[in-house]
Amino acid sequence: MDMNGAGGSVLMHKYEIGRLLGKGTFAKVYYSRNIETGQSFAIKVINKDKVMRVGLMKQIKREISVMRLVRHPNIVQLYEVMATKSKIYFVMQYVKGGELFDKVAKGRLKEDVARKFFQQLISAVDYCHSRGVYHRDLKPENLLLDENGNLKVSDFGLSTFADSKSSQDGLLYTTCGTPAYVAPEVISRKGYDGAKADIWCCGVILFVLVAGYLPFHDSNLMEMYRKIGRAEFTCPTWFPLDLRKLVVRILDPNPSTRISMSKIMENSWVKKHMVSSKNYSGISQQRTLGIPNNLNAFDIISLASGFDLSGLFEEENQDSSKEARFISKDKSLDIISKIENIAEKINFKVKEENGGGCMVVKMEGLDEGRKGVLEINAEIFEVASSSCIVDINKKRGDTMEYQKLWKNVIKPELRDIVWTWQGKKQQHQVEVLEHYL
Ligand code: ADP
Ligand code: MG
Repeated sequence: MDMNGAGGSVLMHKYEIGRLLGKGTFAKVYYSRNIETGQSFAIKVINKDKVMRVGLMKQIKREISVMRLVRHPNIVQLYEVMATKSKIYFVMQYVKGGELFDKVAKGRLKEDVARKFFQQLISAVDYCHSRGVYHRDLKPENLLLDENGNLKVSDFGLSTFADSKSSQDGLLYTTCGTPAYVAPEVISRKGYDGAKADIWCCGVILFVLVAGYLPFHDSNLMEMYRKIGRAEFTCPTWFPLDLRKLVVRILDPNPSTRISMSKIMENSWVKKHMVSSKNYSGISQQRTLGIPNNLNAFDIISLASGFDLSGLFEEENQDSSKEARFISKDKSLDIISKIENIAEKINFKVKEENGGGCMVVKMEGLDEGRKGVLEINAEIFEVASSSCIVDINKKRGDTMEYQKLWKNVIKPELRDIVWTWQGKKQQHQVEVLEHYL
């Protein structure tokens, strides 16, 4: 029996939890099996207290949204999310072959093998970028290998959506990532472009795969940062010329002149022996999974919306009647103005705020109710260029008063921007989806 209380137990009468596969900062990952079908999974168990203490709950919620949205042969698939009072469980695809890191630790890879991994990495990262998702923590530890030796990117804990509204210029402002792999502009705390920062990480990974050691390394951290800032590195003499040129183009300290993803994919070293890119598109994978190919990522999240997240919000909201969530196909600005219209109708004050990764519309009643003024928040998360997740929460005041307002005015008024409500009712649809997985 594991100290965490997870090992050896059965989760939600459905998954038998087995041995520990790996550990991260907030999470432990266990091997597990569906009791009924015997199918293998990896379950990431996140300690909610720890996450809450450092204020990362929003990140975790975002990780869930990201992983639900993303479906690619080189990205670890998330199947289900469950939560109890103290823990969050991510049921993921089990990736058998361990970390790419372990392979590299045993010595550098042959050029062709490194190329294959790099092609798969670029394919996964480009797929995410095209959906506005940036990983920001790309490093060999987060690259897993499946039983066929194919790469699977994991760990979206720190990834984020492009959120041009959270900063005027669309640049990300959080400093994160691991020193050895982190891009110079991320270190210097200038706002940065998530895509360019990921490209840098891919360059460091490429170097490590072929050379067998890090391009930037120093026992003194400041010295290491200095080397990264100037892109001070030397390729081993045996690096072929085309590879050397590519690495130099990627590890360009200036993000604005650094090579783009599309240019990387056209590069002659990268393209050599490239498996038909069709095999890497999300669409063709959906087909092989047997999911009708007219489903897009958007449909998939809405199908998946029956994931029971009630436990996740428990601490903030004991009662689900205080929180509602829906998906909208309208633009975030239109959603905000609709919500502001509603606030006006019910004679509430409104204030817009940047919630770090989402837009928050704060609404406050003017009259004292039974438990003081009512305060309602609407959080709008942009999850793709064409969709938003909207959370409506009661923050303060009497629940009954809120529910009356919700039922009589807010919910009916939202009708024209709601594409689909998220809730337990759709559970059966998840089962339909799971059938195809
Ligand atoms: P964290 O977000 O805390 O860093 P990770 O998602 O990186 O957690 O997982 C920690 C470790 O668990 C990984 O480095 C890997 O060894 C193992 N692991 C994670 N996901 C899987 C998976 N889907 N299949 C097998 N092992 C996994
Ligand atoms: Mg990790």
